[in-house]
Parts: sequence; C-alpha cells; structure tokens
Amino acid sequence: MKRADILVIGGGIAGVSAAARFAPRAQTLLLEREAALGYHASGRSATFYHFGIGDTIVRGLTAASRSFFTDPPDDPDAPPLSQPKSAMFFATTETMDQLRALETEMRRFSDDISAIGPADMLAIVPPLKVGEEGAVEGLLDTGGRKLDADLLLQTNARLLRAAGGEICFNAGVTGIAHDGSGWIVDTAGESYAAPVVVNAAGAWADELAAMAGVRPLGLTALRRTIIGFDPPPGLAITDWPFLKTVADDGFYMLPDAGRLLASPMDVTPSPACDAQPDDYDMALAAWRVEQATTLTVDRIALKWAGLRSFVADKVPTAGFAPDAPGFFWLAGQGGYGLQTSPAMALAAEALLFDLHWPDRLAEQGVRPHHLRPERLFG
Ligand SMILES: Cc1cc2nc3c(=O)[nH]c(=O)nc-3n(C[C@H](O)[C@H](O)[C@H](O)COP(=O)(O)OP(=O)(O)OC[C@H]3O[C@@H](n4cnc5c(N)ncnc54)[C@H](O)[C@@H]3O)c2cc1C
Repeated sequence: MKRADILVIGGGIAGVSAAARFAPRAQTLLLEREAALGYHASGRSATFYHFGIGDTIVRGLTAASRSFFTDPPDDPDAPPLSQPKSAMFFATTETMDQLRALETEMRRFSDDISAIGPADMLAIVPPLKVGEEGAVEGLLDTGGRKLDADLLLQTNARLLRAAGGEICFNAGVTGIAHDGSGWIVDTAGESYAAPVVVNAAGAWADELAAMAGVRPLGLTALRRTIIGFDPPPGLAITDWPFLKTVADDGFYMLPDAGRLLASPMDVTPSPACDAQPDDYDMALAAWRVEQATTLTVDRIALKWAGLRSFVADKVPTAGFAPDAPGFFWLAGQGGYGLQTSPAMALAAEALLFDLHWPDRLAEQGVRPHHLRPERLFG
C-alpha cells in the first residue's frame, strides 16, 4: 500500500494544475488511468482563452488566470504558455441583441473589447460574408490568447514533480472506500491510502463519486467536435482571429498550424467515454463554415471530439463533499477548463488547506460559495 497526504484522481488540466499547487504543502500523488496526461478533454480542446464564454463567475476565473498564461511561473527561459491572438464575435440581424449583451458582459472583465462593423470584419477575415446575408456587427477582443495545452500540462507536471509530487500512469481507479481513518484507493496494480482524495476525473467524476458512495454532482458530459481543413492556396490565414458566431447554433473557426479548425459547437449528451467525432457533426461544421463565409471545405483533413462536463449552473466545482470526509471535488470544467485552470487550482488550494481566500479571485468577484458543491444540493 502506497501512502500520501493527497491522492488526486485524473491527469487532465484540472488534476495536474491543482496537484502542482498542493505538492509544496503536502505529499501529493496523481493517479491517471491513461498512459499520458491530457488524453481526454484536456488534449482535445480548441485551446483558446477569451471572454466570450461562460457566466460572470467563469469570466472572473478566466480573468484571474491570465497572468499564469502571460508570465509563466518559475522559469523565465521556458517557452511561452500562450500567444496573443484576437477573438472576433459576430452577429447577424437576428442575433444583434445577443451581441449587445455579450459586449456588456465582456467589458466588465476586459478593456480590450471594441465594436466593429462589416468593413472592419471583412478586412480581418476576408472570406466572411457581411451585410444583409451575413455578419452585420462584431466585437473584437484583442486580449485573446492561443494556449499551448501540452505545454500547460507539462509545466504543471514539472512543478508537481519539483515539489516532490508523483504521477502514476496506467493507474485507473477501480475502487474507493473510507476505512474510518482515510481513503483506500484501488487500481489494477497497486493500492493507495490518503486522508484526502481529490476527484478530478473529468467526465467520469460522478462515476468515481458513486464508487466511493459519495453523492454525485449531476454532471452532464456534452460531446464537441472539431474538424480541420486546408484554406485555399495563397490565402494568408495565420493572423486571422478566433472567429465565433454570437449565437450558440453557429460555429467557431481559428487558424492552427497552416490549417483552419472549425467546430459546429455541438452539445450532444454522451456517456463518459473516449469520444469520437460523428459524421453528422463534422458535416455540420463544414456546412456552417460554408454558409457564413465564401470558403469551401473540400476535404476534412483532421477531426476529433471530446467531452465537456457541466453541472447545473455550468460553473466549475471545487470543495469538500458535504457528505464524505476528505473527499474533494474538482469537476465540471465545462468548455473553459484550460482557460480557468490557474484560478481553479488556486481556489482548490485555498479550499483544501483552508487558506485565506486569494485576493486574485476576490478581485474578480469569485467567492468560495460560487464554487463549493453545496450550492448544487439546494
Ligand atoms: C472540442 C473541445 C473544445 C474545447 N475548447 C476549449 C477552449 O478553447 N478553452 C478552454 O479553456 N477549454 C476548452 N475545452 C474544455 C476543456 O478541454 C475542458 O474543460 C478541460 O480539459 C477539462 O479538464 P479535466 O481535467 O476536468 O478533464 P479531462 O482532461 O478529461 O481529465 C480527466 C482525467 O481523469 C482520468 N480518469 C477518469 N476516470 C479515472 C479513474 N477511474 N482513474 C484514474 N483516472 C481517471 C481520465 O483518464 C482523464 O485523463 C474544450 C473541450 C472540447 C471537448
């Protein structure tokens, strides 16, 4: 039996970023079922940071995370965790009200937002259809960032190990029980004991809780698809922004390594699994791009899907379960788990060790009760 102070279950961005903060304070061991970090949601995202998603608390978490992405923690010579890249949101005549509401929300958190008209939008993304048949008004957020998901995972893993923490791969948890003094966690190869277990199992977090006899949060996993396609030869796409319709039944698109990535922003409920793209969602992505722009998607060169997990209020959860001693929730990161991960790790550290609530979170309007699981249980 291996012993630790804290067992973190799940090697996605939630688990590894929190474990990196716990490790300087307590012996921390991270258990991941797969052979590498970020195999599931954390390795399948669009890796973007922007204020066009989530509610006020999510935007607060996003704002509080920014400095981690712009000024990496400990090594001035390390490659950057993110690159500046604007985000552009656009509305058709029917969705103008949504654009106005989004502008108000975004301006609360950023001074980098400006309203732009059809001529500016066309100059920024020349194939965008503008005018009566297309985009009539837009918002440009010049504070957006393209994140490097792999580097984020590896940087957190390095910080964890540097503080004496450990990561165990191929360590899928098959049983969790409290023996009166602490948690006993079984995997196929080894058993572990610790007074505190952190449930950062992504789409599997409720299943893991059920295994431990802990009341689930009511998580819903929603599949989201991304396709990649080649732009027409000679078209310069590198400086294009992350482009997103303000309406939910639209699409987003961004340049990446010489190709364009696009998502139909699908929200298909799914069991926790190794999500795979569905033909319909891939075709929908291509169709929505072709409807809104003059681009054609002749061949889908890349495709993947991943699961975004939400609780009822769509705000990520961190905090001890009210019904089980030492069982700590870190789940429901939704569609913003990368861009909120530094702030969520900070919140998890404060809640787990009962520390003074960080000013960085308070200044952005994020308080413990916004994140604690109790809010979901009425
Ligand atoms: C298509 C798509 C686009 C996205 N775009 C963005 C974006 O632009 N910006 C952004 O911030 N976010 C984005 N997201 C959301 C983001 O990817 C997620 O919020 C985030 O990755 C969730 O991290 P996680 O660590 O909670 O989950 P995961 O990365 O899924 O990690 C959970 C881990 O737990 C492990 N696990 C589960 N059960 C067990 C067990 N029994 N034993 C051991 N290990 C276990 C799993 O193997 C997995 O590695 C996107 C997501 C998708 C799918």
